[in-house]
Amino acid sequence: MIKINENYLKLTSSYLFAEIARRVEAFRQQNPQKEIIRLGIGDVTKPLPRACVDAFRKGVDEMGEEGAFRGYGPEQGYGFLREQIARCDFQARKADISADEVFVSDGAKCDTGNIQELFAGDIVVAVPDPVYPVYVDTNVMAGRTEKSVDGRYGGLVYLEGTPANGFVPAPPNQRVDLIYLCYPNNPTGATATREQLKAWVDYARAEKALILFDAAYESFISDPSIPHSIYEIEGARDVAIEFRSFSKTAGFTGARCAFTVVPKSCVAYAGDGTAHAIHGLWNRRHTTKFNGVSYPVQRAAEAVYLGDGPSQVREIINCYMANAKLIKDKMSSLGYSCTGGVNAPYIWIECKSDSWKFFDMLLNDAGVVCTPGAGFGRCGEGFIRISAFNSRENVEKALSKIEEAVK
Ligand SMILES: *Cc1c(COP(=O)(O)O)cnc(C)c1O
Repeated sequence: MIKINENYLKLTSSYLFAEIARRVEAFRQQNPQKEIIRLGIGDVTKPLPRACVDAFRKGVDEMGEEGAFRGYGPEQGYGFLREQIARCDFQARKADISADEVFVSDGAKCDTGNIQELFAGDIVVAVPDPVYPVYVDTNVMAGRTEKSVDGRYGGLVYLEGTPANGFVPAPPNQRVDLIYLCYPNNPTGATATREQLKAWVDYARAEKALILFDAAYESFISDPSIPHSIYEIEGARDVAIEFRSFSKTAGFTGARCAFTVVPKSCVAYAGDGTAHAIHGLWNRRHTTKFNGVSYPVQRAAEAVYLGDGPSQVREIINCYMANAKLIKDKMSSLGYSCTGGVNAPYIWIECKSDSWKFFDMLLNDAGVVCTPGAGFGRCGEGFIRISAFNSRENVEKALSKIEEAVK
């Protein structure tokens, strides 16, 4: 008899974005003439930068040419891309990372989900609340939790983000072994200072713990004092893995390219106390279960670093961040307290009511789709997330409709 992994039965079924889609569809059917503006799901709206499209196309052409054609590439990614990443994203910021510590992949979602299989089943896992749900659900699937009670899984340690700590929780007063951090944060848009990250690195070193640092939104940082990488913090190389993605940075949500940095000095421990380099384990997993990102896509990603690429990327990010400022300024002027929107494309808004109620109000009275904070965890209740990923025109229209609706 084929048996299931019963951990899957622990997963709470109402998936946030499915429920949003259901409510939006119901509204659409009842109000077919009303316009709906989506500031909900975290997907980009602008097309790939020109430089990436040109490199992508050139890569495709090469694949059709005798002599230039490429079959299986290195699972870890082509050297041309890994070297640009190490140089431009890390060494240029005085973060000591080399090309062979960079693993190119088809997504930071898969990498953050897959990495936990390297670690034992009985470790203590800490996740932020509010949280990017992938961190939680993949650990539930792996059997590291008990069942969910009132929206929280037994066995997980929840790092609470609240207005009191500016949505940047400090290390806990208990021992945890694996820590998920995401800065700039999805959904709150909060960023961590150098001192705050240093506290986590010190904690991880003292506890022999490991930090999984999701920096998918680092390119939205404009404040020069905010670190882009955890490796800008002294000592982080021994206790942190970093996830990056071209998805939000350069519009690769559909094209798919990301990377994970596993420093060679980063270790985890066997039951007998011996230290093992995580680099070797991840390399083993990556080469066994993954066959690399397609050549044209890696050429397109490389273009982010070359010639006109950086300025084209910057221009797109500036457009989104101009939207973010409009949203933040308007919602603040309407009396809502807002986090994010300065170094991140998300604005986290205290809605002074039940977050699904506020969602329904925005949908019904303004035709605007946001994301209710409750979908990101218990600490998200009372908040909504508005995303800056849309056209300027739509953002302006949405804000004037929101203004009318809440007045
Ligand atoms: C969008 C996002 C990612 C990127 O996922 P990809 O699989 O690379 O598209 C990673 N982490 C967070 C928190 C995100 O919001």
